[in-house]
Amino acid sequence: MDFQLTDEQLQLQSTVRDFAAREIAPHVMQWDEASCFPLETIKQLGKLGLMGCIFPNEYSGAGMGYIEYVIAIEELSRVDGSVGIIVAAHNSLCTNHIFLAGSEEQKQRYVPRLATGEHIGAWALTEPNSGSDAAGARCTARRKGDCWVLNGTKTFITNGGYADVVVVVAVTDKTIGTRGLSAFIVERGTPGFKAGKKENKLGLRASDTSELIFEDCEIPAGNLLGREGEGFIDAMRVLDGGRISIAALGLGMATGAYECALHYSRQRKQFGKAISEFQAIQWKLADMATEIDAARLLTLRAAWMKDNGMKTTLESSMAKLYSGEVAAKAANEAVQIYGGYGFIKDYPAEKFYRDSKLCTIGEGTSEIQRMVIARQLLR
Ligand SMILES: Cc1cc2nc3c(=O)[nH]c(=O)nc-3n(C[C@H](O)[C@H](O)[C@H](O)COP(=O)(O)OP(=O)(O)OC[C@H]3O[C@@H](n4cnc5c(N)ncnc54)[C@H](O)[C@@H]3O)c2cc1C
Repeated sequence: MDFQLTDEQLQLQSTVRDFAAREIAPHVMQWDEASCFPLETIKQLGKLGLMGCIFPNEYSGAGMGYIEYVIAIEELSRVDGSVGIIVAAHNSLCTNHIFLAGSEEQKQRYVPRLATGEHIGAWALTEPNSGSDAAGARCTARRKGDCWVLNGTKTFITNGGYADVVVVVAVTDKTIGTRGLSAFIVERGTPGFKAGKKENKLGLRASDTSELIFEDCEIPAGNLLGREGEGFIDAMRVLDGGRISIAALGLGMATGAYECALHYSRQRKQFGKAISEFQAIQWKLADMATEIDAARLLTLRAAWMKDNGMKTTLESSMAKLYSGEVAAKAANEAVQIYGGYGFIKDYPAEKFYRDSKLCTIGEGTSEIQRMVIARQLLR
């Protein structure tokens, strides 16, 4: 067992860390307050290969694995979780669904432009009335000659308002439950497809979370992604990878919150000493550091298994559950360590507090992760 990152992985970590410090950190609060999607920065990340981290060179990807992907998402999210979730939804949800389930023609057509960041991707499963119960989707796809006709609404879709390519899961046969769901590729500009309401959010405000509306939206029959009736099964496979990236998102935000709290605790003096000299603060820091390390080990284990071709349903959910909960807890403790300043937007703790909450909700809530884990244990 080897707990060391390789020289290449350390190099990647340092490159992404430098990029985040230089290109993201100075703008974080302005983007957050204005809910401004950092399109230029995302294009630059494309040039660094991070919009196609996990895809082979032959599809213009960076040819890296999930361990490198975790490193990149962690480093970005340590500075801004919004950038982390934009990159995560694009890579491991949209592009990966096409990569996993697409025909060779679909992969050649869509993956290279997504992997270079020329195109932005979104992945649409959730609907107003079906979130945790994703199989309860109502958005329909009806076959009409050489086309599929989509009708319905998707909600809370990351990158939805900016996406050039969207993977949509819709009902093709409502009589057979999860076997009646299929996935489709829809391109921006297709008549009958538009982005609806952009959500005004608690956190991750620089990421775009939008409604997607399909009204008699006709797409070519060839845009069926994977086999008819296998959209739900493929979506669950996609989430096995996606949850590793949300674990990395939580890990990054937890680390960012911990680092700023550690620094502040050394600067802030009360009762004539730095607050880091009080045992109550030391114990918070000790718990934060320990839990973050445990989250990192769970996340890297799931990534390593994925890179080695193993099934990771259990391990991805464990990593996502634990890392998400650790992120929310570490950010809460960071605010506490900052005291009143933790409540003020001039200091970084409050943003981590708002942003980290998503990690216990997105790509399956903590309750749903526990259901997935228990189901695997009791099989
Ligand atoms: C910022 C953001 C980005 C997102 N990005 C995307 C995206 O890109 N694509 C996409 O498809 N979706 C996306 N989502 C949707 C997200 O995956 C859902 O919000 C999430 O799965 C929960 O669904 P819900 O909001 O409908 O909550 P509900 O399913 O209504 O859950 C409400 C509460 O009930 C609990 N609950 C539900 N069922 C059970 C059960 N069986 N047992 C115990 N408790 C239960 C939940 O845990 C939760 O606490 C995003 C959401 C947000 C907030």
